[in-house]
Amino acid sequence: MGYQVSGSGFSWRVTDAAGVQHGQYYRNNADAFEFAKRLEQADKVHTRSCLCCTVDFKSEGAHNRMCSKCRQLSGGMM
Ligand SMILES: [Zn+2]
Repeated sequence: MGYQVSGSGFSWRVTDAAGVQHGQYYRNNADAFEFAKRLEQADKVHTRSCLCCTVDFKSEGAHNRMCSKCRQLSGGMM
């Protein structure tokens, strides 16, 4: 998605859409791709407003639209 792996030989790096490097230089591209994947997963965890009480909470993804309190109140239906 937003991260690119570039390099050659024993020098690989991960940059974001703005060209900013994340992490260190990697000696092989598999490690660099693994790191890019982790960064993308971390980006998916962001703050949403709860559908029920509109409080801000850390969402785990598109399926997660209610805060933990409301999810408990709904009896785990969501
Ligand atoms: Zn809520």
